[in-house]
Amino acid sequence: MDKPTFVIQPEKAESAAKQLGVTVLNLLSSLVKPAQSYARPPISKFHVGAVGLGSSGRIFLGVNVEFPNLPLHHSIHAEQFLVTNLNLNGEHKLKSLAVSAAPCGHCRQFLQEIRDASEIRILITTDQNSSPDSDGFLRLGTILPHRFGPEDLLHKDLPLLLESHDNRLTISDLDQICNGITDSDSNGDLKRICNGITDSDSDSNGDLKRTALAAANRSYSPYSLCPSGVSLMDCDGKVYRGWYMESAAYNPSLGPVQAAIVDYVANGGGGGYERIVGAVLVEKKDAVVRQEHTARLILQTISPKCEFHVFHCH
Ligand SMILES: [Zn+2]
Repeated sequence: MDKPTFVIQPEKAESAAKQLGVTVLNLLSSLVKPAQSYARPPISKFHVGAVGLGSSGRIFLGVNVEFPNLPLHHSIHAEQFLVTNLNLNGEHKLKSLAVSAAPCGHCRQFLQEIRDASEIRILITTDQNSSPDSDGFLRLGTILPHRFGPEDLLHKDLPLLLESHDNRLTISDLDQICNGITDSDSNGDLKRICNGITDSDSDSNGDLKRTALAAANRSYSPYSLCPSGVSLMDCDGKVYRGWYMESAAYNPSLGPVQAAIVDYVANGGGGGYERIVGAVLVEKKDAVVRQEHTARLILQTISPKCEFHVFHCH
């Protein structure tokens, strides 16, 4: 089987639409079934595919991902995967999406973090009973009226999910945590003993650390102000990354490990999670929302041999 493609460039989208004699917008629904085949739902066996069109003209795929032996709330919904895929690829706006099943309440809420969310157009490919626009699409505002969203909690000028921002986080060598060595149980010298990992390292651990820091700098955490990022390395040395994304309703927030797994699923060629052998989390010291324990739990469960390190940033 060909390696799945989770991002389709505008030229490719246009030529594929032309071949089928449809518009790029109509092409979305024809890609939903192929997308479903990439889903990873070992618990529900319910394959969800979501296909979105960004303002750049690129098309993005999303699928649902479930993790055996973990609580269900660690699952990644297809629409969350889709939004994460846009975010990881620097897409600033989601205009339309086609999805194989009606978006659940959790996903309707998660999508509120995108500016003008109510205007996002949604086609539910299995829904025969809706009263859509003439082209089959509904507006998100129609299926989630009286919404609660970022404008209820944030100043309107703050960047929303998908919009450019830089959290300006840095890591100093003296502030590392590895192998349980923390500020409270070590002196300055001990803090330097962290498997020899420093900013100047050019080895894979240094790459993972820098990648996780860069990811944390793109994290969207306007509610807790606790950004975080995760990098993963597979057994071929390929690095993946993702960052924490919050929801105004808190619970639909997506953790940094899940976001990095989106990158892994989209770009790892379909391999199992046991191929993930290294991971780094970067988050703020004394953060009121901490990812460390959850990240460790998820990684230990899906890839027990994965080596995991945490670094604190300022
Ligand atoms: Zn959902």
